Amino acid sequence: MNLIVARELKKSYFPDSIEVKALRGVDFEIKAGSFVSFVGPSGSGKTTLLNLIGCLDKPTGGALEVAGTDVAQLSRRQAATFRGENVGFVFQSFNLIPVLTAYENIEYPLVMVQTRSSAGRRERVLELLESVGIADQKDKFPEQLSGGQKQRVAIARALVTSPKLVLADEPTANLDHENASMIIRLMKKMKDDLNTTFIFSTHDRRIISEAEIIYTLEDGILVSKEGTNG
Ligand code: ADP
Ligand code: MG
Repeated sequence: MNLIVARELKKSYFPDSIEVKALRGVDFEIKAGSFVSFVGPSGSGKTTLLNLIGCLDKPTGGALEVAGTDVAQLSRRQAATFRGENVGFVFQSFNLIPVLTAYENIEYPLVMVQTRSSAGRRERVLELLESVGIADQKDKFPEQLSGGQKQRVAIARALVTSPKLVLADEPTANLDHENASMIIRLMKKMKDDLNTTFIFSTHDRRIISEAEIIYTLEDGILVSKEGTNG
C-alpha cells in the first residue's frame, strides 16, 4: 500500500517577488512501513520536500497524497489536525523543551492530545524510554544529556502518539559519525518493531547504508532511486 504518492510535485518560493524553484516536478511513491532517505547537497530541496510531506507547507504545483489524503487541499487548521494524527517529527537540533525532563518531553504530545489517562500515558512513555534505550536517563533534563541521548528522546517523542509516519530532517547533522549511525540504526529498529514509515534526509552519504530506499535530489529534481522494497 502506498502511504505517499507525489506527482509532478513542485514548490517555488517567492522572496522579493523573484521565483526560487525548490522542487521542479518530482514523482515518487513510498510504501507504508518503509525506511526511506532523501539525500542531496545543501539547497537541493530536502527540507522543502519533507515540509510538504509533513503538511507544514503547501505545494505550488502537482499532486501530493499522504495516507489517502490530498494534502494540498487542506486548510491550515485541517493540516494541523492531520499532522497531529499522522505525523511525528524529529529535528536536526533536537528541539526538546529545556525545562522538561526526558520523560516529560516524551509525554508532552500525549498530554496535548488527551487520548490516554495519566496511567495510560505513563505506561506508553516508559515503554518508549525502554525501546529507545534511555530508561535510566528519564529524569534528566536535556542539557544533562549527550546529543545522541537527546535524539533518542526526540525519536521516542515522535513515536509516542503512534503516527503512521515519522519525518526526520537531517536528524544526524549535529552528531558525530558514531552517534549518527546509532540514531539511524535506532530509527530502523523502531520502524521494524512498529511498522511505522520513516523518512529522513541527510547530506551525509556515509550514514545511508541502512536505508532501504535512497532518493537523490539535485537542484529540485529527483535524479536517482536506489534500493528495493519500495
Ligand atoms: P535543503 O534542505 O536540501 O538544503 P531546501 O529545501 O532548504 O534545501 O532549499 C531548496 C531551495 O529553496 C534553496 O535554493 C533554498 O535557498 C530555497 N528556499 C528554501 N526555503 C526558502 C524560503 N522560505 N524562501 C525562499 N527560498 C527558500
Ligand atoms: Mg534542509
